[in-house]
Amino acid sequence: MNIKIPVSKMFIGEEEAAAAAEVIKKGHISGTYGKELGEFENKFADYCGCKYGIAVSNGTVALHLAMAVLGVKKGDEVLVSSLTNMATFFAVLYQGAKPIPIDIEPDTLNINPDLIEKKITPRTRAIIIVHLYGHPVNMDPILKIAQKRKLFVVEDAAEAHGALYKGKKIGSLSDMACFSFYANKILITGEGGMITTNNKDFAERARLLGSLAYGKKNRFIHEDVGFNYRMTNVQAAIGLAQLKKIGKVIVAKRTMAKQYIKELKDVSGIQLPVEKPYAKNVYWMFNIVLKGKLENKRDFLMKKLKEKGIETRESFAPYNLQKATVKGNSIKKGDCPIANAISKSGLYLPSGPNITKKEINYVVKSVKEILKLNRGC
Ligand SMILES: *Cc1c(COP(=O)(O)O)cnc(C)c1O
Repeated sequence: MNIKIPVSKMFIGEEEAAAAAEVIKKGHISGTYGKELGEFENKFADYCGCKYGIAVSNGTVALHLAMAVLGVKKGDEVLVSSLTNMATFFAVLYQGAKPIPIDIEPDTLNINPDLIEKKITPRTRAIIIVHLYGHPVNMDPILKIAQKRKLFVVEDAAEAHGALYKGKKIGSLSDMACFSFYANKILITGEGGMITTNNKDFAERARLLGSLAYGKKNRFIHEDVGFNYRMTNVQAAIGLAQLKKIGKVIVAKRTMAKQYIKELKDVSGIQLPVEKPYAKNVYWMFNIVLKGKLENKRDFLMKKLKEKGIETRESFAPYNLQKATVKGNSIKKGDCPIANAISKSGLYLPSGPNITKKEINYVVKSVKEILKLNRGC
């Protein structure tokens, strides 16, 4: 069966093509040539209400660079929201440190602040929170714990560009925030990422380590062991064109979510995304969770939707269920029961910013039909 409605269709076109062509014609293509890079960094940081932006090649290396900047090393522990793209955890592992998964709130699916303190040990250095599926984390209790226990806080903001926490843009709420501009995110450059921060020392250190730590006097007497995590100027040019559309993308995402919610809110057995009073959700993906009698129907629903040309995706699988990283470790499968449950019964419906009202109608109708939710209505 052909896919009629993909899980996410890109919002990119003529403007981005023209911007890319222009810098290519000038030969300004690398990560060290071209004014677009600096401009994109400044404008994106500005958009987030931050002083500094450091563009990098993707969201994963943004997270790794943040860990390196904070000096996270072997023997250290970092508390991480359990339900996320595993890139969040890998960033800690790249530094030889130990990530400790923290279970999530059942409604926002974000890190549960009440579970943090009892996982802090003398080795804990930082907390990485994830604004999952576009819903901002309840930051105040976390920042309070971090301040009291002298821990760094890093936002994984890969899914939440433009989301607000108590009226403030995410990306500006912690020591450093890490964005992804991968092709299905809210702002896209193909591959790409950015660290935003208000801390000048962190910004300088990120810029240094992310560009091979080239020497300041003699370029080739390096200051440290660096990485080449630079973004290309072509991606920055695309990013600048995208930045002009981000408001539109967020409106489209919120419109998409509003229609799903309207059509699914009275259906029992389906948990929908929420928007807490402190939050403006940008609904990166419309993630639903099957409950009660429907709890074991996730894989069946996905298969049947696919037969109807509707593409979906399972919710993330938490760290404590990963074979590759928890083997021989003290992390137990049962450590994060809420995240485990979501990973078994959650999925996201087609959520692209281009999705039409009619397509959403078709998805909702198909979901109800497959789960036989129309009976008796
Ligand atoms: C996409 C994503 C990443 C990784 O970003 P890439 O640009 O794909 O490397 C990290 N964390 C979360 C929460 C993500 O959604």
